[in-house]
Amino acid sequence: MSDAIIEEDDTLAKLTLDVLRDRFAAEDSSGERAPGTHVSDLIFPRKAWLGKHTPAVKLSDDECIYFIAGRAHHEIIEALIAEGKMREVKLEWNDIHGTVDAVRETPVEIKTSRSGTDHDASEVPGHYILQLGMYCAMFVPEAKESIGTILILFLKVKKKSIFGGRQRQKPKLRSYTIRFQDLDHIRQVMLARKAMLEGDVAPPKDLCEPWLCGSCRFWHNECEGRDDAWA
Ligand code: SF4
Repeated sequence: MSDAIIEEDDTLAKLTLDVLRDRFAAEDSSGERAPGTHVSDLIFPRKAWLGKHTPAVKLSDDECIYFIAGRAHHEIIEALIAEGKMREVKLEWNDIHGTVDAVRETPVEIKTSRSGTDHDASEVPGHYILQLGMYCAMFVPEAKESIGTILILFLKVKKKSIFGGRQRQKPKLRSYTIRFQDLDHIRQVMLARKAMLEGDVAPPKDLCEPWLCGSCRFWHNECEGRDDAWA
């Protein structure tokens, strides 16, 4: 409307983030989570270790927003692919707990990505593959090999517009079948990382990925400039 006066005012956005931040923290400490190590902790163990040892550090705004986006899409897609039957299947192996998003004969993991491009099979992020591999390793604990599926909702893939060639961003849903050929190796990685999480020293930074640091609440006080910091 031409007579509307618009002013920037972040009050409501900040209030919303504060409420959500407190809610996520309360969920974390509610005791609903099974005691022990969780697969999600094993993917970036330094971050998980710092979260456990410095619980007063709250989620950053970015982390909070990523959580919201991930959750909303997750619920919808899970319902679609699992038809309410084999959804959120709990797994346990060697006191490591995991909840795989769905099972359709083999584990299915669902991700939401803000990456600007959709990925061909060789570009599926390594931490997605590792997490699915851990679920496959737990799903049939004596199996040497297994297959799993990743379903990724890309929120904004760049597309050329048919009207004049300008790039536009569109969502896209893609799935990938992953064949794991050495599940015992994945089990060794799981046990090694579990031991790190239970130790007194923070796991090394190189088990995180540099892109993760930009939005991480631990960057300034725990990681930036430390001896084990990124070069
Ligand atoms: S700041 Fe980076 S290295 Fe440190 S915990 Fe966070 S993601 Fe890991």
